[in-house]
Amino acid sequence: MNYIKGYRCTICQKEFKPGEVGLTCPHCGEKGILDVIYDYDKLKEVLTKEYFANNRNYSMWRYWPMMGIEETHIDEMLRIGWTPLYHARRLGEYLGVKKLYVKDDGLNPSGSSKDRASGVAVLKAIEAGARTIACSSTGNAASSCACQAAHMGLKAVIFVPKRAPIGKVTQISLYGATLISVDGDYKAAFKLSKAAIDKYGWYNRNAAINPFMVEGKKTVSLEIAEQLGWEVTDWVAISVGDGCTVGGVYKGFAELFKLGLIKKIPKILGVQSTGCCPFVIASKNNEPLKEADENTIADSIAVGIPRNPIKAINAIKNSNGAWIAVPDSDIINSMAILGRLEGVFGEPAGVAAIAGIKKAVEQGIIKKDETVTTIVTGNGLKDPANAQKAINAPVLMKPNLEELDKFLKEKGVI
Ligand SMILES: *Cc1c(COP(=O)(O)O)cnc(C)c1O
Ligand SMILES: [Zn+2]
Repeated sequence: MNYIKGYRCTICQKEFKPGEVGLTCPHCGEKGILDVIYDYDKLKEVLTKEYFANNRNYSMWRYWPMMGIEETHIDEMLRIGWTPLYHARRLGEYLGVKKLYVKDDGLNPSGSSKDRASGVAVLKAIEAGARTIACSSTGNAASSCACQAAHMGLKAVIFVPKRAPIGKVTQISLYGATLISVDGDYKAAFKLSKAAIDKYGWYNRNAAINPFMVEGKKTVSLEIAEQLGWEVTDWVAISVGDGCTVGGVYKGFAELFKLGLIKKIPKILGVQSTGCCPFVIASKNNEPLKEADENTIADSIAVGIPRNPIKAINAIKNSNGAWIAVPDSDIINSMAILGRLEGVFGEPAGVAAIAGIKKAVEQGIIKKDETVTTIVTGNGLKDPANAQKAINAPVLMKPNLEELDKFLKEKGVI
């Protein structure tokens, strides 16, 4: 059994009972992305602070009653979630905020937040009796879908744009998935995957269509709240591509608020690269979303046509948050700063939110007496080529103590 009461269309707001609809709204078609709604009264009885205090499942599966899944297979799944939340004192001081927490979601099984969604996708595919799961992605959803499918013995067919970094592409094949490297950008990969899924009837993990992906993504907020003793920070900063993650982050906090487990919903800072920032442009000009170039090193958020726009826009609006764009040079700098000050290695999209916090503080959007949590959404080892832009190339040295001595003096080490 699960606690789903039904689904609500994000466009026409019409509600449907379980079993009444497929993945999207029958009236609004493909764009009619659904929200999963629960029997919150029933959840309130079960999900108390005591329930969590006594729950020894240290993974995102501890939240299964509010993830739209059956409990049946959760013990067979990989350990996704319950990633560490660090009080980042040095980085917080550098950014000029009162208190900063860093949630290192790069420590998930395939190295990104996407495992939260892919784990749920694989369970829903099994519930639906599917043998094959498919998705298109800029890289992380792809490698994570391949990873989670492998663990549960499902076939995976994965579409990526040709620019996907080698680390992520390698993961996909290593996990035994069928890899389709599309000669084009993410938009092209998405389109081909959609046509193939329609034709072959595979289970669709595309985050923009499948409402359960947000149910997985939102567990990051549930963890943040619980790890902070149910006292959330004033802000939560996150990078945005399709908008599924930020939509999930908001839904997680909004539901905890509804269940009476937290007293406020954090303001959400949505961060994009200036090289690809359709949400920031639309919000600044107060106009509808327009297609943007995909011109950033932060490949995971190089999304010219966001596929989950309504949930993303509502997340920022309903939380009284803000949108901000940062140049790639700031993103590269954030990789180095996060590594140097906190010992955490994030991929470009994983640290973009840190650059966003810095700019938001400079602009007075985030006040100096406010507390902030940021989510490092992907591991830096996925994309070492871009990480190298943030560091000096290593110096090759003769095995000679005098030379070493000279080098250490130059560097100020001795
Ligand atoms: C996918 C991803 C994001 C953005 O998530 P969206 O749901 O596309 O907005 C951010 N960072 C990383 C590392 C990602 O893989
Ligand atoms: Zn609708």
